Amino acid sequence: MFVHAAQALGYRCIVLDPDAVSPAGAVAEKHIKADYLDSFGLAQLARDCDAITTEFENVPALALETLAGMRVVAPAAASVAVCQDRAIEKAHFEAAGVPCAPHAVITNEIELTAVDPALLPGILKTSRMGYDGKGQVRVATTAELAQAWEGLKRVPCVLEQLLPLKAELSVLVARGADGQIVNFPVQQNLHRGGILAVTEVPAPDVPVEVDRLAVAAARQVADALNYVGVLCIEFFWLQDGRLVVNEMAPRPHNSGHWTMNGADVSQFELQVRALAGLPLPAPRQHSASVMLNLLGDLWFNDDGGPTPPAWDRVLALPGTHLHLYGKADARHGRKMGHLNITADTPEAAHAVAVEAAAILGLPTDF
Ligand code: ADP
Ligand code: MG
Repeated sequence: MFVHAAQALGYRCIVLDPDAVSPAGAVAEKHIKADYLDSFGLAQLARDCDAITTEFENVPALALETLAGMRVVAPAAASVAVCQDRAIEKAHFEAAGVPCAPHAVITNEIELTAVDPALLPGILKTSRMGYDGKGQVRVATTAELAQAWEGLKRVPCVLEQLLPLKAELSVLVARGADGQIVNFPVQQNLHRGGILAVTEVPAPDVPVEVDRLAVAAARQVADALNYVGVLCIEFFWLQDGRLVVNEMAPRPHNSGHWTMNGADVSQFELQVRALAGLPLPAPRQHSASVMLNLLGDLWFNDDGGPTPPAWDRVLALPGTHLHLYGKADARHGRKMGHLNITADTPEAAHAVAVEAAAILGLPTDF
């Protein structure tokens, strides 16, 4: 989607991706099939590209650092490094004056036994490499905590207090090298099994004070990082009304995919603009939007599969925009694409989204 946005602005793209079947590589002018730290691959990128970005936060920060000596790189390796480690990320939030969930860092036996029982029940999360709920275990007691840490091979972890959520929100900002910053409206996100399922914009349940707090906090976090590019900040809105930051992603984010059809500039175009040093106008939402994630599970609905869902029935609904990523195999829990629904009013977009979900065999309780 980034490559498409860059191409629309007349740029050519080279994608470095170790996967031979790379959706981005397939639409780019060139695909370098190499590991993220492959020196030959990185040298090719540095030779042929004017500017370099990442679409995946687990690209080793070292790769970006190496390239930054030769070319424009955004976001910077230092920013990506903060997002790659939950413990460092949380320390950054606190330093930026934005509250996050009560937590403890666990890297050794002493820290494990010193954990404040008030953090239980909690979620033990690996500090690095987690996504879509992977590398997370819910624990209720200190015994379960010890067992879970063992199960995670005693890698550095963060134990977070399990918080009573009213809803999950996210805010996407785009920040230029000159410090200019713009944001999309607050997004309300529903997760199922730790994976984003539905995003609605405008956020249906969010009062204006919470909306303002979320936008201000997101901008504060980006400014404190001196961030360049698109950054997504995810929040927990708690049942007692408080807003705490959950985590951030140094790239366009799944919760911003609605911007491809519901806003006058998409998150991907803003990423291209930030990277190319082009102006960043404030994006304007022109349609109420709902995004439904399409996981590989949908290909296995009837008799085993894999069979594609009934796209013709979904696309017969008004304001539906289907985006499929061209991944080779449908697998359970794998993000295969998303469906954007746009309408004049949030109620209309919601109603069509519920109809589409019913056709697809997705839960309709959102
Ligand atoms: P990931 O990197 O996998 O997205 P997250 O930390 O965002 O990891 O956790 C995934 C989901 O699990 C969240 O979106 C939320 O629904 C739930 N979750 C995570 N941490 C907490 C918490 N401390 N309290 C309540 N729910 C949580
Ligand atoms: Mg998350």
